[in-house]
Amino acid sequence: KSFADYSLSDEIKRALAVLKYETPTQVQNEVLPLAFEKQDLVVKSKTGSGKTASFGIPICEMIAWEEKKPQALVLTPTRELAVQVRQDITNIGRFKRIRATALYGKEPFSKQKEELKQKTHAVVGTPGRIMDHIERGTLDLDQIKFLIIDEADEMLNMGFIDEVEEIINELPLDRITMVFSATLPKDVENLCHKYMENPIHIQI
Ligand code: AMP
Repeated sequence: KSFADYSLSDEIKRALAVLKYETPTQVQNEVLPLAFEKQDLVVKSKTGSGKTASFGIPICEMIAWEEKKPQALVLTPTRELAVQVRQDITNIGRFKRIRATALYGKEPFSKQKEELKQKTHAVVGTPGRIMDHIERGTLDLDQIKFLIIDEADEMLNMGFIDEVEEIINELPLDRITMVFSATLPKDVENLCHKYMENPIHIQI
């Protein structure tokens, strides 16, 4: 399959061309059609598989540019991954002028607060700092339509389960949820069972 087989907008196709993504990777071929059908997904795949674009492409495609509040929320276990995912979404969404903001600890809260006052379509961050923003009223989640939990096994290994659950409980129920994880231990399965609607499991 090629990206031409998916009915992507010209803006996204142009961005993929700039990134030199010609052929979808396996995880992208599995995830893209189901994501466009708004199917909840649990994806077992590793870093390096192209998993970021597998959710980045549908998110960027489905985001409504005019909406002022964030529409996509990506939870990551680390600052490094948050920065990487933010960059990937920005690259994929560049010709749609999609704005993504990264929120993580060890960076001044005030700086992020100012960033969130501007229109941002996607928020990517670590659970602790995202909880801080929710509690201080600087992050409005009532227009979120996509929730991505990236490296879910790492996130729970790092002890973020309470924050992750608190964040999910702040989100609208009418949303697409996708969980990506290299392994599927019991606690990740439990989380999926609790917060997803008949998810399809994909194993790469
Ligand atoms: P990830 O697994 O998301 O960390 O992606 C691994 C690497 O593959 C990143 O450097 C991406 O930029 C690159 N990549 C993702 N999708 C494609 C694709 N379809 N063609 C070529 N490179 C890709």
